[in-house]
Amino acid sequence: MSQRDQDKHKARQQRLKEVVDAKVAEAQVERGLVLVLTGNGKGKSTAGFGTVLRAVGHGLNCAVAQFIKGEWPCGERNVLEKLGVPFHIMKTGFTWNTQDREGDTRAAEAVWAAVAQDLANPAVDMVLLDELTYMLSLHYLDVDTVVAAIEARPEHQHVVITGRNCHRRLLELADTVSEIAPVKHAFEAGIKAQQGLDW
Ligand code: ATP
Ligand code: MG
Repeated sequence: MSQRDQDKHKARQQRLKEVVDAKVAEAQVERGLVLVLTGNGKGKSTAGFGTVLRAVGHGLNCAVAQFIKGEWPCGERNVLEKLGVPFHIMKTGFTWNTQDREGDTRAAEAVWAAVAQDLANPAVDMVLLDELTYMLSLHYLDVDTVVAAIEARPEHQHVVITGRNCHRRLLELADTVSEIAPVKHAFEAGIKAQQGLDW
């Protein structure tokens, strides 16, 4: 690179830095946020648990609700429960081919009742609602009830929601929405889910 090009590059970077610095200085609002991790790619729950781990690492009080996979082993749960993070899990073992709609609804409502207390508790700094989106798309939970509880939560409390096909109302409510796109997945090559990587 010639000296002239180097100077030009430096000046451009300096202008960019000024713009970014100004934006950072402007962003002064501090409050609890709603983060939605959705899309058909792998990594939604991992990112949700990663956020909880991050928060726990800063001494925040977190709670987790798992709306589908309670019966399944879960590496993150093994660690986070030891660190004192409470988990609310759908105990009746929701499965994709279940015919017991009433039982599933009751199970979802029981988890919701527990998590609603966290959402109303100022001592809780972050709530992860893992796989919540399916409870709304399957009509196991009422969207108005869910939205109202999230809206009425303590001002500093963060809420992280994961799952595919997120309800429009939750997308509207959210401050940050990330959609994870599938580029490829090992399962398509006939490789089964691997402990430690997939759960
Ligand atoms: P993870 O828990 O790994 O972060 P996720 O929360 O994004 O994944 P889910 O829809 O909850 O995805 O599915 C969980 C399981 O399904 C994981 O074992 C994951 O590897 C697998 N999975 C996720 N996305 C895909 C996909 N596009 N094709 C096949 N399997 C997938
Ligand atoms: Mg998931």
